[in-house]
Amino acid sequence: MERVQKVIANAGIASRRKAEELITKGRVSVNGVQITELGTKVDPMQDEVSVDGVPIHKEEPVYYLLYKPTGVISSVSDDKNRKVVTDFLPTESRIYPIGRLDYDTSGLILLTNDGDFANILMHPKYRINKTYVAKVEGVPEREDLKKLQHGIKLDDRKTSPAKVKIVKQDRTKGTAILEITIHEGRNRQVRRMLEAIGHPVIKLKREQYGFLTLHGLNAGEYRELKPHEVKKLR
Ligand code: URA
Repeated sequence: MERVQKVIANAGIASRRKAEELITKGRVSVNGVQITELGTKVDPMQDEVSVDGVPIHKEEPVYYLLYKPTGVISSVSDDKNRKVVTDFLPTESRIYPIGRLDYDTSGLILLTNDGDFANILMHPKYRINKTYVAKVEGVPEREDLKKLQHGIKLDDRKTSPAKVKIVKQDRTKGTAILEITIHEGRNRQVRRMLEAIGHPVIKLKREQYGFLTLHGLNAGEYRELKPHEVKKLR
């Protein structure tokens, strides 16, 4: 057992003296209970010491791959009480999605509590390929696909070239299924790109993120990333 002020100081939060001050000011709690006694002792391995409600130990990093269903917000909370992506995961604090998928888009989304990892993956410089399957109105012609492959102007800025192919087409129904791969993450990018070539999206799903796929998962299910997968993404 150790004195709380020592545990706080050892965690690099504050000097021993400053830690004592935090305790007497009532800013420290042990296992959720506020303490003000300088003599309080804790087990640094078992007890959770918090300063201003924030646990001082660094949480174990966790990495999840979720198959987001449609009708779910890519956020940790919603002011309209709609379902959010973290509702599908074990309840752990501070896990948030890496990037986002639209409310109406289903598919692969990563979530973590590791801020550095999230920042790396979201940095445009990393150019992680994301592959989407889109059901669209009409059947695009070769020229339409070429436009996507060359990049098209959205908000006065050209998109990077996309890889795109038609997987299936139904000329009677007037629909097609496309596979499109981009590495950028602009707002509603795939929907806007397909709208721009005159083939609005009916349904959109993200199938792949880098080398990761939805293999083995149904909508609403998740799995943890394996350590070698985390390492490969970094
Ligand atoms: N592009 C979109 O238009 N929507 C998404 O959710 C992801 C990419």
